[in-house]
Amino acid sequence: MSKINEYHCPSGHTTVTRDTEPRTVTPMFITCPECKKTATSCMYQVNQSQQPTYEWFIPKNIEEMKAACLPVYGDMFNDDDYESMLEKTESTGPGMYRKIDLK
Ligand SMILES: [Zn+2]
Repeated sequence: MSKINEYHCPSGHTTVTRDTEPRTVTPMFITCPECKKTATSCMYQVNQSQQPTYEWFIPKNIEEMKAACLPVYGDMFNDDDYESMLEKTESTGPGMYRKIDLK
């Protein structure tokens, strides 16, 4: 069962996320996908029936890691960076969020 969380940034954006893995560990802070400021977790104390726009997941390869990073951070990492981020994610749990394809 997916848990819904919200991240609020100083500009007033709300990023609604869902967990997709049972062992999900999500960070207290993320980079706001809209304005790149620091957004703070609401610790799951939010309406659980709302529609999430982002999901937490475990990237399985560099391509998935890249696809998740590019919209948020832009093209600022090289393949070595992605490789080490991937290793870190595999050992500590989901480290990335990506936009959900709403159909
Ligand atoms: Zn923002």
